Amino acid sequence: MKPKYIFVTGGVISSLGKGLAAASLGALLEARNLTVGIQKLDPYLNVDPGTMSPFQHGEVFVTDDGAETDLDLGHYERFTNAKLTKKSNYTTGKIYDEVITKERRGDYLGGTVQVIPHITDEIKRCIRRGTGDVDVALVEIGGTVGDIESQPFLEAIRQFRYDIGPENVLYMHLTLVPYIKAAEELKTKPTQHSVKELRSIGIQPDIILCRSEQPLNRELKAKISLFCNLPPEAVFTALDVESIYEVPLSLHHEGLDDKVVSLLNIWTGAPRLGNWEQMLHKIKEPQHEVKIGIVGKYTALKESYKSLNEALVHGGIANNARVNLDYIDSEQLEELSAEKLEARFSGISGILVPGGFGNRGIEGKIKAINYARTHKIPMFGICLGMQLMAVEFARNCAKLNDANSSEFNPETTYPIIYLMKEWTTKDGSQTVTQNEDTPKGGTMRLGAHPCQLAPGSHARQAYDTDNISERHRHRYEFNNEYRDILEASGLQITGTHADRKLVEIIEINEHPWYLGCQFHPEFTSKPMKPHPLFVAFIKASLEQKQS
Ligand code: GLN
Repeated sequence: MKPKYIFVTGGVISSLGKGLAAASLGALLEARNLTVGIQKLDPYLNVDPGTMSPFQHGEVFVTDDGAETDLDLGHYERFTNAKLTKKSNYTTGKIYDEVITKERRGDYLGGTVQVIPHITDEIKRCIRRGTGDVDVALVEIGGTVGDIESQPFLEAIRQFRYDIGPENVLYMHLTLVPYIKAAEELKTKPTQHSVKELRSIGIQPDIILCRSEQPLNRELKAKISLFCNLPPEAVFTALDVESIYEVPLSLHHEGLDDKVVSLLNIWTGAPRLGNWEQMLHKIKEPQHEVKIGIVGKYTALKESYKSLNEALVHGGIANNARVNLDYIDSEQLEELSAEKLEARFSGISGILVPGGFGNRGIEGKIKAINYARTHKIPMFGICLGMQLMAVEFARNCAKLNDANSSEFNPETTYPIIYLMKEWTTKDGSQTVTQNEDTPKGGTMRLGAHPCQLAPGSHARQAYDTDNISERHRHRYEFNNEYRDILEASGLQITGTHADRKLVEIIEINEHPWYLGCQFHPEFTSKPMKPHPLFVAFIKASLEQKQS
């Protein structure tokens, strides 16, 4: 029977790291030579996370096929080789959307359409087509057990065990075991309550993972076992660790993967974890250290730059360096005098301007970019960052004084970055049009697109290949009408979309490392396979520090 399913639920509170736990278990199973797939089911009503604010929901992660998904999918890709697609993330909104479409079409032949069985059937269908032909499919249910929103999902996974047989399904529940300082004790009561809740809807967890700042001893595990109706060997500590990349090893030392394969009746050898150990060693005992300034808008909320932060860590791993991040609110740079700007950037060896939307703080970012260009500090612009690098260059090098992106100033004389009004679809069959008033949902260039690199460029050097494919998520583009003028002033276009002639990478000469890319390289960086642009950027920043 393929695949076997592991359903991961969470109790007590959110943000316990359910996604990380699922991703880590996926990594451990892969280390045992099993193929894994991962899927996330989210109980909120938005049809996809694409239009949700990063303030509320953290980063929007983008897959190769252009799905805008929950940031946990980023963990899944960083930790495993699972192939993630549009089918890897379903929300309640999406499920209802499909059921209501079917109802309108008459597919239910006039029958009464209900949560059980119609919504739950649809959920089960999504689960079945979610992960493809793999040995083990991990399915994470978002939210916390007890939430009204997650009930249909829990009901669906309860039924699932009967549909495909108990030996093919495993329920893993993550809870919190808090340490109460005054009593000097770890408390199991919240876990008991949350499991009681789960059992009341008919799900008996096979494994309980207890998130805790201290290891649970044998007595505590026995207590949880007694109250939660499972053997003590099925209770594991998910210990707080310094680096997220320590989680797989920590869970392995607890014996989690051993238990999982034995419960699912899968026979494998011992896992090969040497590469995880080596990588972790580099993170924990690096030889160098470097400080990178991230100039952005959501700097108070690190979750909104999740993949970016990780990609910078990966770039550090490749260079044997600890990367310290200094988050700089771009708005606060706007008023600074030249000396104060200098002081703000002192000790920073590389500047990164990430992706973003909306007007706020734009001029501050341009100021930072100008600083990096004129002070010859390694500069990496991603998506919006690249667009603003082009704007800064146009204003100050090509002397196009009010140059801007039409996203921020529709009246600008020089729309260096603009909204494409019309284009032909990939297969040439359709002409798509849009303007500033087109509804925001689903109008972006999304997902993987090919890009050709120019010989001799920093980009070509970093990738060590001529043709690449990278993920996009943006509405605005570099305006080719200004290409000649900017190139005449020294801008180098070093990456272009082969058939659509879109500008994808810009650089300049006479600068140690100055590169902006229209795509999001951070989405495809992994600790074991750091992204070439992040490796090159950190390398240049380390050299900057040493010089
Ligand atoms: N706001 C810009 C655009 O839509 C950049 C988007 C981004 O950085 N992801 O093109």
